Amino acid sequence: MPQSIISLSHEPSGALLAHEWRRRSDVRHLYIHIPFCHRRCAYCDFNTYANMEDRMEAYVAALCTELHSMAHPQRAIPPARSMTADLTRAMVRPTIFLGGGTPSMLSEALMEQTLAAADAVVPLCDAEVTVECNPGTVLGRDYLRALRAMGVNRVSLGVQSLHDPTLRILGRIHTAAEAYASFNDARAVGFERINLDFIFGLPGQTVVQWEETLREIVTWGADHFALYSLILEERTPLYAQVTSGRISVPDDDATGAMYELAIAHFAAAGYVQYEISNWARADASDAPVPSHACHHNLAYWLNADYLAAGAGAHGHLYPCRYINVAGIDDYIAHVRARSLPVAEVIDLTPRDLAAETMFMGLRLNAGVSFAHFRDRCGVEIDAIFGAELADLAQQGLIERDDRGVRLTPRGRMLGNRVFERFV
Ligand code: SF4
Repeated sequence: MPQSIISLSHEPSGALLAHEWRRRSDVRHLYIHIPFCHRRCAYCDFNTYANMEDRMEAYVAALCTELHSMAHPQRAIPPARSMTADLTRAMVRPTIFLGGGTPSMLSEALMEQTLAAADAVVPLCDAEVTVECNPGTVLGRDYLRALRAMGVNRVSLGVQSLHDPTLRILGRIHTAAEAYASFNDARAVGFERINLDFIFGLPGQTVVQWEETLREIVTWGADHFALYSLILEERTPLYAQVTSGRISVPDDDATGAMYELAIAHFAAAGYVQYEISNWARADASDAPVPSHACHHNLAYWLNADYLAAGAGAHGHLYPCRYINVAGIDDYIAHVRARSLPVAEVIDLTPRDLAAETMFMGLRLNAGVSFAHFRDRCGVEIDAIFGAELADLAQQGLIERDDRGVRLTPRGRMLGNRVFERFV
């Protein structure tokens, strides 16, 4: 049986996982969590920590050990197949995604160590390699140029708003002008693939203000946008401010109007909405997703398997899902003790796999192709969900053709009502 290059010992909860790591040499996607931030944004409930920069070196050392433990001497990463109308996992490129937290807080040296260790798990040369960057951390071009030289070929900038007073309420560490400068710097050093994250439904935001933002951002020339409606997470400062009445956020009608405006403005500007929250610049091909789509997220939506490393990272290796320990010190201590830093392993049944394949895939405008469901679940969609699909079609929420099933425009607005039918 092939062995990992460095082995971490496995407590009982990790036994199944360890078995999967050794058995599977074909996993093509890797998520790496960098849990450091300069300060916590008021709305954020991610696994991230401020004022712990003194742990960065030890953290990256632990991360590299965990990554080396995943390296597989016989890893055989199949290249992506060309896109056909029947979207399947095989068409997704191998991917590495550094998310956080703020990966761009890593020094060039620590980033280089991390990417070198990742290269042994998913070869950088064939992969879409994305680094999430906070615009406040990549001012000036040197760092972005260094990322390019290390093999990073996609950056994702968290712009969030073009309204400086709102950015201050959110606790962001940058202004709108700085975010624009970071975007231009990324372009100037040669990044062709840049995602911009925005949030709508923000404190004090009006529909008119949001429309002004949309008018401006479509002129920037980014190839990809991800737009999220603000979610007020309990235990965040913003949640407390809103529930105590000190700050107000737009109501559901206004937020719905903002989403519809985004759909209209991006379509008019030549972007294709390929997922509920994601747009990419249109291209000439008739592929089911545009060529600038985020392949790492496509892997999630196609319910592919992926490895994950770092504190609090979630991995998916059917028939299990695993979650690493969340705390930075806890994570470092586990790895230093040569133990797998896994807090929880969740067993998945074939029914779980089928349900996840449906509700993740239906987020894509291309929907779930019959070929993909068969490839992922080993059975036909109708054998498992025939009754649910017939009922949803009757309600006008789902449509189907000879290739697969997808949400109708009405189904897209009522997505949760559709997704819960498969759980
Ligand atoms: S920069 Fe991102 S990860 Fe860090 S606190 Fe803000 S929203 Fe959370």
